[in-house]
Amino acid sequence: MIRDAVEAVVNAIISEKDYLSQLDAKIGDGDHGANMAQGAKSAVEALEELSDEELNDLQKVLHAVGEAVVMNVGGSAGPLYGAGILEAAKVVDENSSLDIATLEKMFGAAVSAIQRRGHAQKGDKTMLDVLIPIHECFTPENSAGKNLEEVLVLAVDAAKDGVEYTKTIAAKRGRASYLGDRSIGFEDPGAVSSLIIYRTLCNYWKG
Ligand code: ADP
Ligand code: MG
Repeated sequence: MIRDAVEAVVNAIISEKDYLSQLDAKIGDGDHGANMAQGAKSAVEALEELSDEELNDLQKVLHAVGEAVVMNVGGSAGPLYGAGILEAAKVVDENSSLDIATLEKMFGAAVSAIQRRGHAQKGDKTMLDVLIPIHECFTPENSAGKNLEEVLVLAVDAAKDGVEYTKTIAAKRGRASYLGDRSIGFEDPGAVSSLIIYRTLCNYWKG
């Protein structure tokens, strides 16, 4: 059930709250875990407002979660994640099944929305250094000849590589950019939260 997937993500974020804030304390202001936990809490509250029928509708669930995150989460990551979730909601309908093509559209829409809002590119040391490589795994060129489970797993590896990559580069967007080259050597907290979210969804889908 879709609600179970959201709850799995919420629990993962809450259990990594302190870790995410510690990462942010090194190159930002130390609130990323608190912001993400706030988003998780508001997502749970938003789902409580939906009927059982709505809870089985992927578009309604994504829309409710995206709106809750945009409205209730401070910092830069909340509005960016919220915008991404709201755009992903627009590309699914009641006939969508979670196949490679649908996931390609959802991640593509989320990445585009985050880029329109935050103007970051790959290599700027942000969540996009994880989300863009995840999306790329699902494109027709890269997923040809593979089944869904294979692509899901390859994308976890791509997400982990994305986090490692953020350690090697200087931040060009967000608070960490104030540090310039002193941000090198630390993983980007938003990249890590994106890995946590994706890895949790992936385990859920595979299981
Ligand atoms: P704040 O930086 O306002 O304190 P958070 O700590 O919650 O907000 O989120 C920081 C994360 O947001 C960063 O680690 C980065 O991944 C992401 N981020 C910041 N600015 C941008 C941007 N312009 N585009 C994409 N992601 C961004
Ligand atoms: Mg912060």
